[in-house]
Amino acid sequence: MITAVRKSIEEIIACVSPYDRILLVGCNECVSVCSVGGRKEVALLSSALHMHFLKQGKTMDIREMTLERQCDPEYVEELVNYMDGADAVLSMACGCGVQTIAARYREKPVFPAVNTTFMGASERQGVWSERCQGCGDCVLGITGGICPIARCSKRLMNGPCGGSTKGKCEIDANIDCAWQLIWDRLKALGLEKRIEDIMEAKDWRTSRDGGPRTITREDLAS
Ligand code: SF4
Ligand code: SF4
Repeated sequence: MITAVRKSIEEIIACVSPYDRILLVGCNECVSVCSVGGRKEVALLSSALHMHFLKQGKTMDIREMTLERQCDPEYVEELVNYMDGADAVLSMACGCGVQTIAARYREKPVFPAVNTTFMGASERQGVWSERCQGCGDCVLGITGGICPIARCSKRLMNGPCGGSTKGKCEIDANIDCAWQLIWDRLKALGLEKRIEDIMEAKDWRTSRDGGPRTITREDLAS
């Protein structure tokens, strides 16, 4: 899922303070699962903003909405009847959701209330870790299900580097060395010979180096 962390209240206040009527929009998908931008967080942020502005002697009109999926124009259309009553939109979705609203409602300023961070998995309650960087040409089948792009600090494709120490990364001793993990996993699978195979230089055009990417499924496109 896409993970995010909420921006500081000071940064959010600085964005919305020029306005009197705010449409605060959450999303029921990833940001809801990582407890940063769902219905509950929308209500909490709304209360915090109300309190702040009341202390300043200003009544802020904040309408709360949480869409099923903010990165989907179909759901973003549900905001249409509320736009006239809003001076600005404050979005608690990832950057995809913010941009979907900005594209649909061009006349309204849209501000992000969260910092979109990475594609990750839940390790345990309250802890998410980066697992994929969307390279567009997955090598997990070769690397024992562990991504060297997202999990090696240097994105080495034929690691480990000389700094790997006792299974930890030289960049941060709290992080497992991805190539140690790959080795352990290949060994457990009886595939340790695979570590000797040299991976060819990766073609990063399938990744961000090829510019913004689009997926078009002709069988689904209308
Ligand atoms: S190899 Fe690419 S697609 Fe596969 S997990 Fe890593 S970044 Fe994601
Ligand atoms: S120590 Fe391991 S994870 Fe860290 S940069 Fe080197 S190979 Fe990558």
